[in-house]
Amino acid sequence: MQEEAKIMQLAERMSRLGTETAFEVLAAAKAREAAGHEVIHLEIGEPDFETPEYIVEAAVGALRSGAHHYTPATGILELRQVIATAVAKTRGIRVDPDQVVVTPGGKPIIFFSLLALAGDGDEVIYPNPGFPIYESMIRYVGAKPVPVPLREELDFRLDVEELLGLITDRTRIIIINSPNNPTGSVLTAEDLENIASKVVDRNLMVLSDEIYSRILYEGEHASITRYPGMQEKTILLDGFSKTYAMTGWRLGYGVMNRGLAQQIGKLMINSNSCTAAFTQIAGIAALTGDQGPSLRMVETFRQRRDRVVELLNEIAGVTCRLPQGAFYAFPNIKSFEKPAREIQNLLLTKADLALLSGTAFGCFGEGYLRFSYAASMENLEEGVRRMASTLARMRA
Ligand code: PLP
Repeated sequence: MQEEAKIMQLAERMSRLGTETAFEVLAAAKAREAAGHEVIHLEIGEPDFETPEYIVEAAVGALRSGAHHYTPATGILELRQVIATAVAKTRGIRVDPDQVVVTPGGKPIIFFSLLALAGDGDEVIYPNPGFPIYESMIRYVGAKPVPVPLREELDFRLDVEELLGLITDRTRIIIINSPNNPTGSVLTAEDLENIASKVVDRNLMVLSDEIYSRILYEGEHASITRYPGMQEKTILLDGFSKTYAMTGWRLGYGVMNRGLAQQIGKLMINSNSCTAAFTQIAGIAALTGDQGPSLRMVETFRQRRDRVVELLNEIAGVTCRLPQGAFYAFPNIKSFEKPAREIQNLLLTKADLALLSGTAFGCFGEGYLRFSYAASMENLEEGVRRMASTLARMRA
């Protein structure tokens, strides 16, 4: 360590950067596989489907026909137009292409929004349990993370009154995420309307992470952008990773007011220059082409969800609510009276079952595990069997 300090000294802010435990568990699971173990992977949050063929063809065609160069920093106009049309239709709002910023994945929209809007001493409210990058990035930019707990009694929706009670004059951003990672919860239209009516006149912005908007099992997706005055005050994050099984392509976007879009465009110029041109052209195909493969994928997720939740509830000492969206179940394992992290490690080392402790998503995830059902039915059933027998042995 001392030797390292002689070579370089990391900036203080690096000590505030967090990580995604999913990647660590994946690495540990791969190491076990290399040693000859047969691991069931339920840890990573990505569809186990291939990107639909017509999208792949569009990317190959783009490369063959010379899409080899930089594009405008905020994205190719045609893609921004197609995104504007799609978002307008699905959210019931008017969107101009100037309000769209295309990025390499949806993740940079989280980073850029925080860089642009929150600084030292500012406060950012975020869901906990929630996507770990929120807290990591809030800390990194020097702001104060203010968690709003998602509780099982409310089906893991946030309590709107509790959220409103956390707002102070220093609050710059409220992050909401529906459907939610890791719980699969969905905010109701009433929740959103209630939040909107209370924050519309406050000097803050809402970052609405809607990356799972199309992976929804009941009703229609509700977005806070549709309530009076909220479109100007909301950064809507969405993308292609989950909907079209394109996690490795890196393609996402934010929709926001024009002034902020210009600022985020500057952050794009300073970091990525632009998103890969052929990936963007594939994005046009994705949104304008046959939505059948995407819809069938969601239908498969629904069947797995129903089966997995049924099986999890059959394990003695485990209870699991029915998630309404995304592809995660969040079983309650409190009856085992052990830290979730310990159970996560035990399942990996004793049963070759890779999944995540609820605390990988924040302190309010204690007592839960995140079980990704983006895996084959056969692996899911085997995963539940391994979980049941390991937990039974723990009880004995
Ligand atoms: N937001 C949430 C809640 C997520 O779960 C993820 C990915 O896991 C992302 C954003 C980022 O997705 P991507 O950068 O692949 O578009």
